[in-house]
Amino acid sequence: MISSKAYAAFSAAKPLRSFRLERRDPRPDDIVIEIAYCGICHSDIHTARGEWGPTAYPCVPGHEIVGTVVAAGKKVRGFKPGDLAGVGCLVDSCGTCKPCRASEEQFCQKHISFTYNSTEQDGTTPTQGGYSTHIVVREKFAFRIKKGVPLARVAPLLCAGITTYSPLKRHKIAKGHRVGVVGLGGLGHMAVKLARAMGAHVTVFSTSPGKERDARKLGANDFVLSTKPENFGPLANTLDFVLDTVSAKHDFTPYLMALKNDATMVLVGASPDASEVIASSLIMGRKRLTGSLIGGVKETQEMLDYCFRKKIYCDIELIPAAKINEAYERTIKGDVKYRFVIDAATF
Ligand code: NAP
Ligand code: ZN
Repeated sequence: MISSKAYAAFSAAKPLRSFRLERRDPRPDDIVIEIAYCGICHSDIHTARGEWGPTAYPCVPGHEIVGTVVAAGKKVRGFKPGDLAGVGCLVDSCGTCKPCRASEEQFCQKHISFTYNSTEQDGTTPTQGGYSTHIVVREKFAFRIKKGVPLARVAPLLCAGITTYSPLKRHKIAKGHRVGVVGLGGLGHMAVKLARAMGAHVTVFSTSPGKERDARKLGANDFVLSTKPENFGPLANTLDFVLDTVSAKHDFTPYLMALKNDATMVLVGASPDASEVIASSLIMGRKRLTGSLIGGVKETQEMLDYCFRKKIYCDIELIPAAKINEAYERTIKGDVKYRFVIDAATF
């Protein structure tokens, strides 16, 4: 077993604290990664606090993982010790169902092994995430990271990056499109950068007036304070696409109204509380409301290579492990610029 220092949640109500974790010995198709950095995603908070349903405690969150390969099993072909590697939200899947064969492992119909609060393919061994010093993972679920990139700023691409890249790509966002991004947090700030890189005109919708300057620095063309209903009037029927990254319950109606006819709003923000949708907001103009979950293995590597090519990285605040709980509180308040990343040397 590989002993790993970590931080874990022990119950929904208590702060995370230091934890010693035993990782499995590497199998022939596994690599061992010494983690350098791990981002803090709002999903970590939803899970640590049991907001999405029961969490198996102790739970080590973290699915925005980058580090250095320190060992590789006999059958590993793509990595060798010394290489950089990343791990995102998935660590395994059945590999044989239709979505897996199409490299949409995030929709595996038999058993998705999420990086934490899930089980390995044996159905019993708990998975534990990246708030730790090491992770052991099948090479198929590890990503190649180019040498020389700013590693801490790459970590959040593994979730915030792919979650926003995938729907923008699927909906073929390109020059000439007007894209709305709702919520300027970890996902939202990457949505702005990626949509701009794809050529779109980007409007940020935010509840935080103080984020306007940052939004523009990140590349947004327009900023709309979403707490003022009168700001939506002039936007009716103007947007080709809306990507909603908000982590809490809110009204979708003003964004659906802002879409052009037949245009699509994609939910990636995963509030634990249900929102109501008034039928007329979809009926009028044949609007579409859909969702998107991270991305598959192939698409995640494609996103990383795209970001390396275009030098698109996350804006981060690097913190020691001892500040994880404070970072959770600040993230919940929307006070994050724009992703907290844990320095794994501090566990
Ligand atoms: P985050 O950094 O906390 O950003 C969320 C942003 O939403 C906040 O910064 C804030 O932006 C806005 N917001 C928060 N509370 C709000 C409220 N009550 N009303 C309106 N706006 C509010 O979170 P994140 O890490 O980007 O994650 C966002 C959501 O996506 C979470 O629910 C997470 O679980 C989910 N997620 C989904 C996937 C997927 O595959 N679908 C993957 C990763 C994460 P402003 O200050 O600009 O208003
Ligand atoms: Zn995430």
